[in-house]
Amino acid sequence: MSRLVVVSNRVPAPKPGGASAGGLAVALSGAMEARGGVWFGWSGDTAPHDAPEPEEARLIVKDKVTYALVDLTERDLEDYYSGFSNRMLWPLFHYRMDLTGFTRVTLGGYYRVNKLFSKLLRKMVEPDDIVWVHDYHLVPLAADLRAAGLKNRMGFYLHIPFPPPDILTVLPNHADIVRGLAAYDVIGFQTPYDVENFETYLRREKLGRRLSGHRFVVHGRAVTVMALPVGIETEAFAKTAQASEKNALVRRAEESLVGRSLIIGVDRLDYSKGIAERIQAFESFLTLDTEWRNRCTYLQITPKSRSDVAEYAQMEREVAELAGRVNGAHADLDWTPIRYVNRAIGRNALAGLYRLARVGLVTPLRDGMNLVAKEFVASQKPKDPGVLLLSRFAGAAHELDGALITNPYDIDGTAGAIARALEMPLDERADRWTRMYERIRNHDVAWWCDSFLKALEQPANDGAEVR
Ligand code: UDP
Repeated sequence: MSRLVVVSNRVPAPKPGGASAGGLAVALSGAMEARGGVWFGWSGDTAPHDAPEPEEARLIVKDKVTYALVDLTERDLEDYYSGFSNRMLWPLFHYRMDLTGFTRVTLGGYYRVNKLFSKLLRKMVEPDDIVWVHDYHLVPLAADLRAAGLKNRMGFYLHIPFPPPDILTVLPNHADIVRGLAAYDVIGFQTPYDVENFETYLRREKLGRRLSGHRFVVHGRAVTVMALPVGIETEAFAKTAQASEKNALVRRAEESLVGRSLIIGVDRLDYSKGIAERIQAFESFLTLDTEWRNRCTYLQITPKSRSDVAEYAQMEREVAELAGRVNGAHADLDWTPIRYVNRAIGRNALAGLYRLARVGLVTPLRDGMNLVAKEFVASQKPKDPGVLLLSRFAGAAHELDGALITNPYDIDGTAGAIARALEMPLDERADRWTRMYERIRNHDVAWWCDSFLKALEQPANDGAEVR
């Protein structure tokens, strides 16, 4: 088995007493433990602006995995991370052309950091290694590594949506970004819809085409393109949820409900998540279904995110104001309809809260996958499961057909779905939940990781010149 080199923007390096890793990190670390590996990327630390460019990554070795960490300067982070990645690619790939900000300076920073990563990484990659690059921050990396002479098998996985061509072509350097993708041997997307968008883009721009099945030609290179939805550690999560019934925070939350039905939303504070629309839908529900007043509580857990990007700071204010206004208008002396919590909750307590909830609201305006939807399903009591309300615009909606699928732009429609979820009879809830649980059990994060690595290791004639 080849050694595995994983590259991602942030490296979850083990820290003494640090938080337990998320499902993705566990799956990738597991694959690296099995074959030996390197996990390469930004350390999370900032170097002084006048620090000389590093010549080597900082290494932390733990068992069979080497974590290779690079500090970035403030300027690099401003341009590559906050600038081009999070103010251009993130909003654009989430269909928010109105929130993009493109400059030559941030674009330059994006390529500069990718070149730096390539310079440091190629010193560590051995000829038989396979290289798996993650997400939108690092698209050009394989092209840089290939330019330096590396011939390894390289794969790329996009965790966010791949937008339709009319949106992608708003990006001034779209052709170059797609040329960057062509340097990989395997490209993974979340859903068949993302693959379809990629294929349409290639056709329209005359940059490639599907040969057959998963085989594509992109910029004259044969590559494998697949839809492989990211999963969670389903069975482990289900066990955690069961054990977390005894968690002190969960017990406190349960007691504070005094018998009311819990509706839960869990999202980073991001405009793609549709939090404002969801609060409006909840208000519409309270107005239309007055018999539910004082009988349910909506808990929205929303840790702050990317506050240094202006659009995020603005939405932070808007959502807080909206939640406050709805509470002011509808609260009673003994009841606050919305509990809006701006801090991160640990995985154990979160699992217990999902299990306590009668309804999970997962209503993003656009989302690559949305793991919260899968975690909510994994956490339910099989004999008395809650109901998942899921936006049709989340990648997860391609798999979770047992959810109540909603359109988050339809505020009153979503309000009606909340009522339907709260009132759904047990046999329908159980039937819907069983379908979803089976799906996420069979397609968990280990399945995702194995499937991608299998494709990456297959010696198909990827990379062959095709005209
Ligand atoms: N999460 C968490 N604590 C919180 C909020 C979120 O641990 O307070 C976790 C959540 O359990 C999930 C992840 O953050 O695993 C969010 O993943 P998702 O795909 O839903 O959205 P993303 O933030 O990646 O866009």
